[in-house]
Amino acid sequence: MELLKDKVALVTGGTRGIGYSIVKTYLDNGAKVVLCGSKQETADKAVEKLKAENPAYDVEGIAPDLTSYESVEKAVKYVADKYGRLDIIANNAGISSNTKLYDYDPADFDKLMLINVNSCFYTTRAAAPIMKAQGGGVIINTSSMVSIYGQPAGVAYPTSKFAVNGLTKSLARELAPDNIRVNAVAPGVTNTDMVVNLPEQTRKYICAQIPLGRMGEPQDIANAFLYLASDLGSYVTGEILSVDGCARA
Ligand code: NAD
Repeated sequence: MELLKDKVALVTGGTRGIGYSIVKTYLDNGAKVVLCGSKQETADKAVEKLKAENPAYDVEGIAPDLTSYESVEKAVKYVADKYGRLDIIANNAGISSNTKLYDYDPADFDKLMLINVNSCFYTTRAAAPIMKAQGGGVIINTSSMVSIYGQPAGVAYPTSKFAVNGLTKSLARELAPDNIRVNAVAPGVTNTDMVVNLPEQTRKYICAQIPLGRMGEPQDIANAFLYLASDLGSYVTGEILSVDGCARA
């Protein structure tokens, strides 16, 4: 079933991990996808890998600077001009932190907020007028289970995800009259580069705390991005959808 037939999607952080799975899942469901990487080289590599899996995929890679509104606006306009529309934005790019407060460089706090929060505002600010003019669209942000309880170090990360929730809930209300749905997915611990370097003992400990008994796989998260992007989620907006094996409980 092609749930996103002929839809045009922009996915940030689409080169690996959760973002790569979102891109592949959207492509498998008939969408045309423009993925963003932090460098053109990594974006090109991801596209190459996808095309090797299926040469029919309609996918290209770009590398806007997500911390610059000017650069993001240019990227959004590029997509809308080239494909004639922009239906879905998956704001997935993000960085994490585990730094203790006493060691925290304030510049690192600013950098994390720019990537995790400002980029979501920038893409939405640039895309919303285009979506409104075409009759609607969907924005999906990436939150985290730490947006519920915080975490005991790396304060910028949970702070950024609380902000993502606020942005999501507020913009959902503001943009609903324009038929633009705004939601977030809140993954639990997910098996990507973000957690791959954890010692085996830590991974085991983490899994023991998760009621479903395992980490999430990128595909588990991508499935939620598919649901929210498609008409299956047509009456869902302002939602922070936890996909965490009940780890938040
Ligand atoms: P990852 O590190 O594997 O991938 C992160 C992606 O973000 C990459 O594609 C990278 O290119 C992109 N990115 C990072 N910095 C960037 C920058 N400055 N400019 C442009 N792109 C940049 O991480 P992941 O685990 O796939 O995480 C994806 C999202 O899911 C993030 O928002 C993260 O906070 C969130 N998340 C992950 C987990 C987890 O356990 N992995 C849990 C909760 C939420």
